[in-house]
Amino acid sequence: MPVKSPYPDFEIPDVDIWSFLFERKDRAFPDDKNLFVDADTQRSYTFAQLRETALSFGHGLKATWDWKKGDVLAIFSPNCVDTPAVMYGVAWTGGVISPANPTYTVEELAFQLGNSEAKALATQRPLLPIAREAAKKVGLPEDRIILIGDERDPSGVVKHFTSIRNISGTSRFRRPKIDPKKDVAYLVYSSGTTGLPKGVMLSHRNMVSNILQGKNTEGRYLSWNDNADGQGDRILAFLPFFHIYGLTTMIHFSLFTGLTVFVMPRFDIEKFCKHVQNYRITFVYVAPPVILLLGKHPIVDKYDLSSLRMMNSGAAPLTRELVEATSARIKVGIKQGYGLSETSPTTHTQAWEDWNKDIGSVGQLVPNMEAKYMTSPEDDSEPQEVAAGEVGELWVRGPNVFLGYHKNQKATEGCLTADGWFRTGDVGYQDKDHKFYITDRVKELIKYKGFQVPPAELEGILVDSELIDDVAVIGVHSDEHGSEVPRAYVVRSAVSKASGASDAEEAEKIVKWMHSKVAQHKRLRGGVRFVETIPKSVSGKILRRVLKEQAKKEAEKP
Ligand code: AMP
Repeated sequence: MPVKSPYPDFEIPDVDIWSFLFERKDRAFPDDKNLFVDADTQRSYTFAQLRETALSFGHGLKATWDWKKGDVLAIFSPNCVDTPAVMYGVAWTGGVISPANPTYTVEELAFQLGNSEAKALATQRPLLPIAREAAKKVGLPEDRIILIGDERDPSGVVKHFTSIRNISGTSRFRRPKIDPKKDVAYLVYSSGTTGLPKGVMLSHRNMVSNILQGKNTEGRYLSWNDNADGQGDRILAFLPFFHIYGLTTMIHFSLFTGLTVFVMPRFDIEKFCKHVQNYRITFVYVAPPVILLLGKHPIVDKYDLSSLRMMNSGAAPLTRELVEATSARIKVGIKQGYGLSETSPTTHTQAWEDWNKDIGSVGQLVPNMEAKYMTSPEDDSEPQEVAAGEVGELWVRGPNVFLGYHKNQKATEGCLTADGWFRTGDVGYQDKDHKFYITDRVKELIKYKGFQVPPAELEGILVDSELIDDVAVIGVHSDEHGSEVPRAYVVRSAVSKASGASDAEEAEKIVKWMHSKVAQHKRLRGGVRFVETIPKSVSGKILRRVLKEQAKKEAEKP
């Protein structure tokens, strides 16, 4: 029997994300509340400034490029205090935001631009060369690139987003009619259970739902003003805004709640400590590697982190040992949440008071959600529900479950049932109190420190090497990295064998060659192993399970 969230269901308003956040009647915090602040320069947006900038940018998009409902604007940038204004400007037009990882290579960015059919690209000046090249590859004209952030293009060719404004005021254009249930607001990229990255279509309703699901769980502990110093909770945003975890929690949920978000372009342990101390940060969203660093790094002792009330970890598994070690050192609660790009993202979260009771659990289902555990047959037979408390593949259903993969009906049908169940590809169980535990994955996906590494993508690149006849990539655990890392199992080609190079030399060559081909989180940190053949099923599917067993045995060898 499916299990329901222990929280009461609530009604989801039938509104688009712009109206929900900017035209709401129940907003308690004032117009001049500072919402997004650059942690280094302190350049900031109040609610009123954000609204005004987004509105003028949205009008500018219409005036300049006749921006239509459904038109996609890609963002290729580290976290930037201007990102929310760009996102909400596009939301006002009924357009779609497709955020991309700023460490992408030209090829990786071009893939997303082409697949999402982006009509414009927002980036920052240091990334212009990659942005330009990727845009060129897919035929996106250079004047469709815009800059955000502090730096301008000295040649003046690429405009800053603030200059894309409708000079004749904000009344000239009307908003299109948006159907919150059907219209896409975000197209984020995930490889899902198998294959290459795909555009995850998240509707306005998906996003509104997950904000309210957050309000009724996390939101019970956070306030825009009602805490000890009367200033409200303050968040430090270093998790990437391009990933759904950062996007929903630190752009949407924080704005809904009226929290001040201090924006960091990327994680840096010393800056993290300095900003927590100086801005008296109270709450942070993290991934497990950050918790590892906070538990071990000597610099942490030099700073006063006592303002921190709680950290929420997500995006990758968090072990009991890690929680205990770090919370003993910095005296802060560490709770866990769980979710996926396809669920906007949060489906489970621990209540703050439970953080040290159920360590290792991802908590309970958020409101309006149900879950069940199923078998994952490797053949074509129908998955069956497993008995309560037993280990199985987690399936979830709720208003935050995505619409499907962009232009990929087959992949959509592979994970979404007609009655709305979504198979997560993750394995786990629930205890008798309906606390959920994630223990494994049946899908191909590898996660390096919370970042997605799709094995099929790496295999596609590797097989093009003249040194390689056949290849399979799997994730193996690395203590050194405190994370899963990708490892390639390779069948050497005749060219490679004829070269007389040793396995070690060839492995090093392949690992290095990949550096130039992929973003840094996809590098083959797990190394290369040579095999005679890649284990495959009769239908030609790589038997990753067999390789995983092999990797386990290799690790056990003295
Ligand atoms: P993404 O779509 O990039 O957010 O990746 C989603 C995947 O991250 C899930 O399917 C899980 O495999 C993994 N994940 C997210 N949160 C957790 C967690 N708390 N514990 C274990 N795995 C997680």
